[in-house]
Amino acid sequence: MQFEAEQEDERLCVLDCYDILDTPQEEAFDRITRLVRRVFDVPIAAVTLIDGHRQWFKSRQGLNQSETDLAHSLCNLAVKQAQPLIVENTLVDPRVQTNPCVTGGLELRFYAGIPLLTPEGQALGTLCAADTKPRSFAAHEVEILTDLSRLVLSELELRTLATTDSLTGAMSRRTFREEAGRALALAQRHRHDLSLLMLDLDHFKLVNDTHGHGTGDRLLSEAVAACRRELRGSDIVGRLGGEEFAILLPHTAASAALPVAEKLRSSIARLRLTAETATISATASFGVCGIDPSIGDVDTLLQRADAALYAAKEDGRNRCTVWRSPVAAAPTTSDVRRRVLKGGRIAFNAGRSTIDCTVRSLSQTGAGIDFVSTANVPDKFKLHILADDFHRACQVISRSDRRLEVAFA
Ligand code: GH3
Ligand code: MG
Ligand code: MG
Repeated sequence: MQFEAEQEDERLCVLDCYDILDTPQEEAFDRITRLVRRVFDVPIAAVTLIDGHRQWFKSRQGLNQSETDLAHSLCNLAVKQAQPLIVENTLVDPRVQTNPCVTGGLELRFYAGIPLLTPEGQALGTLCAADTKPRSFAAHEVEILTDLSRLVLSELELRTLATTDSLTGAMSRRTFREEAGRALALAQRHRHDLSLLMLDLDHFKLVNDTHGHGTGDRLLSEAVAACRRELRGSDIVGRLGGEEFAILLPHTAASAALPVAEKLRSSIARLRLTAETATISATASFGVCGIDPSIGDVDTLLQRADAALYAAKEDGRNRCTVWRSPVAAAPTTSDVRRRVLKGGRIAFNAGRSTIDCTVRSLSQTGAGIDFVSTANVPDKFKLHILADDFHRACQVISRSDRRLEVAFA
């Protein structure tokens, strides 16, 4: 059980590297799901990605919701077995006949899902076809769907090869890391200063939800452009994911990097974007970290800037926070929030009720946890992270519709 959970956490890390969850709909994937629908004459087709607690659709035809919990997922079964899952009649197949998308809601009767396998053999999700009527699915049809699933994976791989992000012109995450590695080695050899800023737009999901992804995209590129206007030509900007960016400032100590971050913060806060019905503004939170002899590699530098960014979010957002060694900050409570990706489960109601979740950050005293919906989650529950044999009683300290911050009791 624990081994399985460890494997699942490894799979989540690989999925994270593709940086695809919660990204906008894209024609390259929609074209493939439209083809699936046409070729097999089915009403439902999707590119599904399996997160720790949900299935999320990168592309969907014939489905209303953009995500559902894992209990409603046949794709999760295909991912678990890392083999095609073909069910010609769901009502007579014991593997799926009690699944809620068979017994209620969608009333699926036919399902064919091909796992999206990475070159290392990790299943990220599926390309699937489904129908509300039973149907047969011949071997050559499995082959066609498998070929189409390889096209989906090629599209996903292509995105990781890009050196720049087409929307903002920032470096891709991989290229940025390589550049940061070089800059760090140089700075250490020649004893130069070097600082890293990490920034994340505040409540950005709300912008997308209220004004649409197109407006969200415009805001992202405007925010990066605003930063560039304040930076030197030699500073390096990378997009780490979604609405999160990192900036390397060569020859700059943390004490000088903080005013730079402040300048960037206020220029983002001054941005005004006109959408159809409203004027939109945004803020961002910043983590700042300079190098010192204890920083051995880029990962440590990124982790520290990330911890500082996390603290800026916790302190109320729209602010810049410099990383401080936990020992210096508070000698007795070494409580650094680490970003993690772990499949979890919460239990309440004397263990009778459980809900899947993804633990996204963890410290000795608390955690940040994602759910499909927090509506039915009580204020007190027990959190289990199977891979780590971790079980703690939790008290909710803040909640939004999909995310909880908890303190350990
Ligand atoms: P917080 O202040 O805690 O950072 O809240 P948040 O809403 O910014 O953070 P969250 O991580 O919940 O949401 C990030 C959102 O960014 C979710 C996703 O829809 C959106 N996003 C990610 N990539 C893109 C993109 O390329 N374009 C657009 N428009 N949105 C994106
Ligand atoms: Mg954000
Ligand atoms: Mg973010």
